[in-house]
Amino acid sequence: METYDVIIVGAGPAGTSTALHLQQLAPELAERTLILEKSRHPRTKLCGGGILPDGLRILQRLGLDFNEVPYTRILRAHFEFDGRGTALTGEGAESLHVVLREDLDAWLARKAQERGVTLREETPVRRIIPGDSFVTVVTADGEYRARVVVGADGAHSVVRRAIAPHQRVPYSRALVLWVPPEPESSSHAPEDAYFDFTCIREGVPGYIWDFPILVHGQPMRCWGITDNGVGPHHSRPLRPLLAREMARHGYRLEDYPLYGESVPHFGVRNVFSAPGVLLVGDALGVDFLYGEGIAPALGYGQLAARAIVDAFAEGDFSFRDYRERVLQSPLGQVLRRRALTASLIFRLRHPAMQRFFWHRLGQHLRTITERYLTNWA
Ligand SMILES: Cc1cc2nc3c(=O)[nH]c(=O)nc-3n(C[C@H](O)[C@H](O)[C@H](O)COP(=O)(O)OP(=O)(O)OC[C@H]3O[C@@H](n4cnc5c(N)ncnc54)[C@H](O)[C@@H]3O)c2cc1C
Repeated sequence: METYDVIIVGAGPAGTSTALHLQQLAPELAERTLILEKSRHPRTKLCGGGILPDGLRILQRLGLDFNEVPYTRILRAHFEFDGRGTALTGEGAESLHVVLREDLDAWLARKAQERGVTLREETPVRRIIPGDSFVTVVTADGEYRARVVVGADGAHSVVRRAIAPHQRVPYSRALVLWVPPEPESSSHAPEDAYFDFTCIREGVPGYIWDFPILVHGQPMRCWGITDNGVGPHHSRPLRPLLAREMARHGYRLEDYPLYGESVPHFGVRNVFSAPGVLLVGDALGVDFLYGEGIAPALGYGQLAARAIVDAFAEGDFSFRDYRERVLQSPLGQVLRRRALTASLIFRLRHPAMQRFFWHRLGQHLRTITERYLTNWA
């Protein structure tokens, strides 16, 4: 049986970031690290691809040049309710960037390999078996064992199911699709991003988004709707709401392939770790205010790598302080604040209260966002 110090399950941003941070903190450990990925890069990932500046900061500190990835820079992002709201602007690295996930993830995986980490693709992990000295990782092609296993295998994590079989956490649901640029009749500006929260009024605690994206060099738009699952009306059909909004901008939803996904919420009571096992990224849970998970996945990688390096230094693989490390970190504090904010905002169902929030308080959105809800990196 092949034995490694660290096995990372999943080569999405959380997994590759863990590997890249391990390489930065302890290169000798990274040489004895294996990433197991069920697909082969470049692989599709259902995602809007919007990265907030925190993500770019993490990449920069890893010495990676984000300009190597094709992206669209969003200079203005509109947050609206009932056709009115506020627009946030950003410049340079401080703006929202949008990538095609297959481009970003393949690039990150290549960087991890170039820096000495072994990546084995098309190797789905079936289950893990924690033990006293090693964790056994069972794949379709055989078994491996490692001192530490990192569950970076996304929303439907096999690793999470192994260490928290009875955990029930709320999920967000989302629909997403890619369409050609908007017809001229649309009121949306081609270079801007839109987040429309009007669906809260109709019992969907979430928003409809529309932003530009480059798909294999072609300018397209990414549309989608998310139901963040806060409050009692968690089963309202999303498709009619998205179809109606897209029709206002000249699209027929039925003309395009539509994809759906669900993601578990981040919560302080979630299982974060077990002896020899850590969870990162969507495997641990995603923010349910914005549904933003790429930059946090990169941030989790840094926290997990530190915890692993310390575990090897101290010979203690219990990871009993990992939850506290995450919660006390700037990323963990922001995720907790977002959870609180989501619980407040999405419960304000009355349109008058929503209008008051978005139309009157909208001008304070930038301050609230910058001070409390982002800038953790
Ligand atoms: C519709 C939608 C839109 C979104 N839009 C945005 C957005 O605009 N901005 C943003 O920041 N976030 C967005 N998110 C969230 C974001 O996509 C995730 O938070 C992010 O991908 C988490 O990264 P990860 O590395 O934890 O997981 P993933 O990116 O899911 O990577 C997990 C990896 O593990 C592999 N894997 C899974 N199971 C196994 C297994 N058993 N064995 C081996 N490998 C396995 C997968 O193939 C994959 O490569 C969106 C999510 C959805 C669903």
